[in-house]
Amino acid sequence: MKNIAIAIDGPAGAGKSTVAKSIAERLGYLYIDTGAMYRGVTFLVIEKDLSFDQKKEIIKLSETIEFEFSKDGTEIYLNRRNCTKEIRDPRINEKVSIVAKIPEVRNNLVKAQQKLAADRDVVMDGRDIGTHVLPDADLKIFLTASVDERAMRRFKELKEKKSKDQVTLNEVRNNIIERDRLDSTRVAAPLVKAKDAYEINTTNLTSENVADKIINLLNNLNCGNQNQ
Ligand code: C5P
Repeated sequence: MKNIAIAIDGPAGAGKSTVAKSIAERLGYLYIDTGAMYRGVTFLVIEKDLSFDQKKEIIKLSETIEFEFSKDGTEIYLNRRNCTKEIRDPRINEKVSIVAKIPEVRNNLVKAQQKLAADRDVVMDGRDIGTHVLPDADLKIFLTASVDERAMRRFKELKEKKSKDQVTLNEVRNNIIERDRLDSTRVAAPLVKAKDAYEINTTNLTSENVADKIINLLNNLNCGNQNQ
């Protein structure tokens, strides 16, 4: 039987990871958070005291990292070390889009993502999944929400996690706007909706509402395939 791939793309804070996690859990698929992988490279750049201008070194680093996820996709291991908390540090938010715009870093991470998705059913979220990583995905979703809604969601998340670095709602909002700008205007695999993706505006929806909609789309697709 063919493996199923669901690609979920969209800007920061549109609800991708919560929705993707819920769908993966309900369907028994593997959840792959590709943003965590770009965050992982960024974390190691900072930890190794590299400057963000040292492109060659950053590319080399992205080539050699071994990425692993826990079964439910919520924990990430970089070279067998659990770095789940570290990659959510506000310093990473500020720098991740600079690392993610280097084409060679993207090539290395895309290869690693395709390898993780081979031979199993997956829900993968990111910015370029439907357009570059899994262009043949069975179902492509593009999630959006207003900037204010996305900033509020991220701010609440940080407050719930009681992050030691206190950031204001306005700082979160500005970071989201800046990351969206960098992610959408970069040359290599920018954030765009795939032509064949379904767009869902999540502004007034709960994550469970959105997950239901996506599972319905998948079921309709399966019915269509059976009728062919
Ligand atoms: O999804 P998350 O907000 O954690 O992603 C962090 C950053 O990683 C994004 O702002 C983007 O710069 C980069 N990213 C990317 N392509 C992906 C996933 C994330 O460029 N597929």
